[in-house]
Amino acid sequence: MANRPYEKGLHDLGNGCFAWLVPDGSWGYSNAGLIVDSGETLLVDTLFDLKSTREMLDQMHRQVPASGTIGTLVNTHANGDHTFGNQLVRGARIVATSKCRDEMLERPPEFFRNLFGAWRALGDAGAFMHEVMGSRFDLSDIVAAPPTTTFDGSLSLNVGNKSVELIEVGPAHTPGDLLVHVPQDRTVFTGDIMFVKGHPIVWAGPISNWIAACDRILSRDVETIVPGHGAITDRNGVRELKCYLEYVLVEARKRYDAGMNDEEAANDISMERFKDWGEPERLVVNVDAAYREFEGQGGMPDPMRLFGLMAKAHFARNGCPACKGSSVVHTH
Ligand SMILES: [Zn+2]
Repeated sequence: MANRPYEKGLHDLGNGCFAWLVPDGSWGYSNAGLIVDSGETLLVDTLFDLKSTREMLDQMHRQVPASGTIGTLVNTHANGDHTFGNQLVRGARIVATSKCRDEMLERPPEFFRNLFGAWRALGDAGAFMHEVMGSRFDLSDIVAAPPTTTFDGSLSLNVGNKSVELIEVGPAHTPGDLLVHVPQDRTVFTGDIMFVKGHPIVWAGPISNWIAACDRILSRDVETIVPGHGAITDRNGVRELKCYLEYVLVEARKRYDAGMNDEEAANDISMERFKDWGEPERLVVNVDAAYREFEGQGGMPDPMRLFGLMAKAHFARNGCPACKGSSVVHTH
């Protein structure tokens, strides 16, 4: 499974399961899924903007004619790169966890359109956000299309004669994450519970709950794993991500106990073992999540502070395109 090609487009996993892959899987370049049986269809997630979602739906329709009408759209979580194309899936019922729906209503597309539009006024955090998302995706014309059916815990659906299980595993990446499991095909679409060859980003946490989500995948008889970002993987991919999360939790704890702050800890932790993983700037977000976990704090972090810290880490490595400087001192 892990050797399937990582190429843009629709990949036939067999027996009516398909994955839409978008390399390189970095910020905003997310995957989606399609399940078809006896003329019924279920789409797992839409993409970050209308252009990319339209391209995906058109290609699905060409390759899988039944997908011209999507009966059910499942959103694995609330992030825009998995939901901002929802409005194009006309007539479908949209299913998600109730926490996912709450987050989508709290932070609608116009919130992000305004935020990305104001990047010049937001210092390094804004420059970074623009580089990795605002300049890549067009959020104009996106309107809110929140879930119409919600659940807590788990929900079983039928797509034709195929049964599909939705399993709530958040809070982890976001407050309302879910997995889409197709037992008879030993396939799971994980949304952003799985990143392959990229650092995961723990927005909500706790990390221990994300580790538990990995165990829930591994406890099932699954073979093919379609991540939210990156190449199709297998059980080893889940074990690798679990290792990363356990490692960050253990290493962050040592530095928390030694009195380092989250930024100092992130700079101090050796990532040699994961050095070929993309988006290393996310480590500081994950250390911050670990720190909140140690302090018994639930809820969400301050995203602008974390974007500021990621910007600093990213620009120190790659230079800043806005001011053409590689120093951590910027004046734009
Ligand atoms: Zn994502």
